[in-house]
Formats: sequence, structure tokens, C-alpha cells
Amino acid sequence: MRSSTYLGLASAAMLALSVGHAFGQCAPGAIGTSRHIQVDTTGGPKLGHLQYPGPELLRPGEVVLTFDDGPHKQLTPVVLDILAQHCAKATFFLVGQRAMGYSDLVREVARQGHTVATHTWSHANLKQKSPDGAAAEIELGISGVQKALGGPAAPFFRFPYLSDPQYAVAHLKQRNTAILSIDVDSYDFRTRSPTVVIRNVMGQLKAKGRGIILFHDIQPSTAGALGALLSDLKAGGYRVVHLVPRQGQVTLADYDRRVGVPLRSIAAASVPVRQRSAVAPAWEQRVIPGSPQAPRVAVAVPAPQPDPQVPSRPAPERPVRDKDTGDDWRRSAFRGW
Ligand SMILES: [Zn+2]
Repeated sequence: MRSSTYLGLASAAMLALSVGHAFGQCAPGAIGTSRHIQVDTTGGPKLGHLQYPGPELLRPGEVVLTFDDGPHKQLTPVVLDILAQHCAKATFFLVGQRAMGYSDLVREVARQGHTVATHTWSHANLKQKSPDGAAAEIELGISGVQKALGGPAAPFFRFPYLSDPQYAVAHLKQRNTAILSIDVDSYDFRTRSPTVVIRNVMGQLKAKGRGIILFHDIQPSTAGALGALLSDLKAGGYRVVHLVPRQGQVTLADYDRRVGVPLRSIAAASVPVRQRSAVAPAWEQRVIPGSPQAPRVAVAVPAPQPDPQVPSRPAPERPVRDKDTGDDWRRSAFRGW
């Protein structure tokens, strides 16, 4: 059990406050959460030095745990259990249509005290979207996550593929939403090996000394690595800090209305009219569930119909083959959807 109080930092872009934190039952040797940093998202601050030169939020030895692309019905609960054992708080960047398919998991993430943030509606690469299409992806993601959560998400956003076109950055600035890039990449999507994930993170942290770490809670390699990695972080003298928003995300009524209709209709509505055709665009094509080898099947833009409960999966990251095994990482990552 551990309780700490630290003084905070303040800057023009953000206000960082530290609060004491009383923990419940933690595993022996748990790393805990040393402090919370309250981020004022007014004006859309950009964090994470891989892409942005903004103010340093973290003190030497501090790390922020972030998990993208979920929820995943099997792996997100595993990640949550490990974080709970270690009393470590994290930020989850959820894909809107996945959140609506697994709203119980979204609420569980929040119930356990983690920050719920957004990662577009369908994990689209926004550089491949028009400005209007990019705004729709962002806003449907926000409204979809809020609907699943039953309350405001954090106004924190991460670009899929860290792909940040200027028009989307301007949109987020106008929406007073912080953009979170990264400092350390676990590269968990490139490997099935937890050992490799741990080596990737610890190696980069040794060089940088602190940082926002990117994981994916849809990746078995991260689920397998996280417990040992948190122990290694503690042994290495690192401290987990938790980013929380100063204010909740405000949704837009038009997009709230759109997520009030069946999922497949939302997907069709999010595509600019000039791009619509008798056949859905590539991101609306889908592989038949349970058949990884099945050919991709183009589906016609659908008429409204009952909610299928399980959403279509977001576009995968990129086709990287595991260096060690030659396996397609996506097979294991998405098995069981
Ligand atoms: Zn992602």
C-alpha cells in the first residue's frame, strides 16, 4: 500500500496538480500511482515528444501508461486486472464503434479509476480523409464513447497511426481537446513476445528517462508483458503518473444523434456524400468473423437495421509480420472477436 503527495506544475497550456492517493489492496511490491496530473485542455495542447516539442509534463523517472484501440472483450479485462493488482492508473484511447459494442468494458475501465479518452470512430487514418471526414471520425468517436460510458469522456485524443493532418489538429484545438502523442513505443503490435515488449519499453526509457508509453490493450504481447513490466519499472525507480482532465469532453448534438442509430447506419453516415457509392469504401469492408483466411467481402451501404451488438473491427494498424515467428500479429490480436 502506498500513498504519496507531490507538488504540481503549472504552465500556460496546462495545469498539473498532484493529489494524495490512498490505495486499496495492492499486490506486494506494487508500483502504485505516484501522482495525478490534471490537464487543462483549453486550446488543444499537444503532448508527447515523438511528434511535439511542447512543455515537459513529466519529471525524471515518471511514466504515463496509455492503451489504444480497445476495448477487447478478452484482453482488456486482463490488462485491467494487472493494473488493479499494481494499483497503477492508465489512460485508454478507445475506438468509438468498439466502445459501443463493449459498453460494459468501457464503464469498467472508468469504474476502476482510469481515464477514458478517444481514438476516432473506426480507427481511420485521418490523413486519408477530407477535413469533413476527419472531423466526423473524431466527433463520432467522442459521441460513441460517451454513449457507451454514460457520461463525458476525457477531452484527450490520440490519432490512429499518430497520423495528424493539420486540419484535424485545428479541429481539435477548436474543440479544446488535448492531442496525446507518445514518447516511448512498446511496438507490441509487431511481436507476440512479452519479453520483446518489455525490452522495447525499458530500452527506450533508459535512453529518455521518462515518457508517455504506448501500448495496445488488444495485443496479447502487452497483456502478457504488463505485470512483469510494471515490476521492472518499479525496480528501475520509475513512477507511474496518471493524466486526468480538468474538464469533461463536450459532445456535439449532431453526432450524438448519429450514434443513437444502429451502428452500420452510423458508419455509412460518417462517409462524405461524394465518397458514397453502391459499394462501401474499404474501411467498411469486413472479414467474416471467425474466418481469418476469408476473403474480404464488400458490403452494400446498408439500410437501417437492428444493432448487430458486435461492431465491425477497426482498420488494423499496418501489416507487420512478427520478426521472431513470422506470424501475422493480427491473427492473434483479433482472434475471438
Ligand atoms: Zn490505434
